[in-house]
Amino acid sequence: MNTTCPYCGVGCGVVAGRDGIVGDPDHPANRGKLCVKGTTLGLTLDDRDRLVAPMIGGQQASWPEALDVVAKRFGEAIAERGPDSVAFYVSGQFLTEDYYIANKLMKGFIGSGNIDTNSRLCMASPVAAQIRAFGEDLVPGIYEDFDEADLILFVGSNAAWCHPVLFQRALRARESRGTRIVAIDPRRSATADLADLHIQIAPGGDLALFAALFAKCAAKGALDYDFIARHTAGFDAALAMAHQADPGIDAELFDQFADMIAGTPRLVTAFFQGVNQSVIGTDTVNAILNLHLATGRIGKPGAGPFSLTGQPNAMGGREVGGLATQLAAHLSFDDSAHRDILARFWNAPHLARKPGLKAIDLFDAVHDGRIKALWIAGTNPAESLPRSALVREALERCPFVVVADCWPTATSSRADVVLPAAGWSEKDGTVTNSERMISRQRAFRPAPGEAKPDWWMFKEVACRMGFGEAFAYSSTASIFREHAALSTFENDGARVFDLGPLAAMPDEDYDVMRPIQWPVGRAEPRLFGDGRFPTADGRARFVAVSAEHGAVDEEKKFTLNTGRLRDQWHTMTRTGRVPELMAHREAAAATIAPADAARLGIATGDLAAIGNERGQLILPAMIGADQASGSIFMAMHWTEAHGSASTVNMLAGAERDPISGEPAFKHGKVTMRRI
Ligand code: SF4
Repeated sequence: MNTTCPYCGVGCGVVAGRDGIVGDPDHPANRGKLCVKGTTLGLTLDDRDRLVAPMIGGQQASWPEALDVVAKRFGEAIAERGPDSVAFYVSGQFLTEDYYIANKLMKGFIGSGNIDTNSRLCMASPVAAQIRAFGEDLVPGIYEDFDEADLILFVGSNAAWCHPVLFQRALRARESRGTRIVAIDPRRSATADLADLHIQIAPGGDLALFAALFAKCAAKGALDYDFIARHTAGFDAALAMAHQADPGIDAELFDQFADMIAGTPRLVTAFFQGVNQSVIGTDTVNAILNLHLATGRIGKPGAGPFSLTGQPNAMGGREVGGLATQLAAHLSFDDSAHRDILARFWNAPHLARKPGLKAIDLFDAVHDGRIKALWIAGTNPAESLPRSALVREALERCPFVVVADCWPTATSSRADVVLPAAGWSEKDGTVTNSERMISRQRAFRPAPGEAKPDWWMFKEVACRMGFGEAFAYSSTASIFREHAALSTFENDGARVFDLGPLAAMPDEDYDVMRPIQWPVGRAEPRLFGDGRFPTADGRARFVAVSAEHGAVDEEKKFTLNTGRLRDQWHTMTRTGRVPELMAHREAAAATIAPADAARLGIATGDLAAIGNERGQLILPAMIGADQASGSIFMAMHWTEAHGSASTVNMLAGAERDPISGEPAFKHGKVTMRRI
């Protein structure tokens, strides 16, 4: 059975068969290759501790009883306080069909924008920046660009651990064509170790570096003025602002690096959470896009900016309006014509007219009593959101909380109703990876107990709330067809997101569907090679970004940088079951630089207290020879379920990008002392 790996946004194809789970040799994302997480997928197929039956108030219930209660309590809250008194918080682990139904119910029929997703925590800044620059949330490039580039920059990305199969493509390109690899990161990660050059910037220094590169390329005569004149707007203001940027690195190194950039047309800039999870995340992405627009390096073989996505379906959620700030099919809340298109297509007279609350604001609203009923699905915000103590308090205060998940979590333990969800290997649907490739996820074994797919739960509640006619789906194929039909509905080509003929795909074709890239039906998979952008005038927009606010915080505290480890995924509900994966790093630790360790009198293995005004964690210290002084790195994976006193997100604050709402997970401020 062909399906797709449930972990990172590379979206590798796998084949589940009698001999276990192996890489799919025919999937274009990986051509049979898998990383260690993918190769051990077969070891995660156990149902120990699963949620297997609906629970109401801690007591086992039937599905009809549980669904009736959910529909009744949401209906009562809406009747008493209006549609904005309820909310959904969902997940990049959702399949596109799950996302489509949840979004349709909240935005189309309940009439509120209050559905947000944990993709807010990783992809919101690129989404906002791409809409500003291109007019639509679009990743121009494809994975083949990593094979065809002469220079690949990994910015704020430990791709060697977080997107291993794609990173291996870059390494193969180095072998076959001499591609140079540069890591731009405050931390000397595994990616930096394997790169030809590591440019160690201060935390938040990437915006200034890219702005300065833009100005330097202008000074070196390396800009594509023909492309700028014919296909862009806003160049002069953006360049004037870029001239003010200090690159923030050694002057000689900057000159050498700028020469490398100026002289290499086949340039791919791949960026990830080090860029995105910052109070300047959106502006930093625009600084990267500005450089590519100014040099005309976009939509061409081996050239383009490339936003790496974190979760297996971060892109699919964006296609169907999983973020509170977007409508389905890349339609915009800001455009009344777009709202009308969606209202007509769904026959939804009460369609939400304004964006809903973004994740951090949403849980603030739960905490202060504005949200009266909350449905959380496929995610564990009590451990994964910043200010986890406040999130837990919010859940306890909320009059009605529903949690749908596969395993019990710190979130489900605070729910009024718990719904057992079918997970990977048990449910059907589609996902979209970082290069806009839609792949099937297929069920190849039954879900345990009474677990059900999320789309079914939302459909059943929608029917009980009186919206049955609009939710008469019999299968994921019928949902996918409607999603595809919406992408083409009244779309005269102005919107790039278009699934074209898939809208008429029969069930049998959906069953055997092979990976397919959108926009469907175009011969050229890259976007913008023709210089046309989906803005009102067809031109891309430079965004004048200031590097001022990217300055390093001089407080005498450590910058807390959180991230992934090579062999773990999120809060380890799946990867934590595999001894081979746990062997890579057995327990949580806080890594600091040797100079900081000496100053604090800390040796590897010593217990240290890391804290701030939100709380304190006690962990063994690790000394990392390549850790930058003044910063601490901690993996995000360990939770109470895995023996940690609490989650590192207890220390993360509410600071977030003012445009995208993405939390600044890479820039926490903490103290550290030996105990
Ligand atoms: Fe899965 Fe990502 Fe590894 Fe591919 S690279 S096998 S998608 S975790």
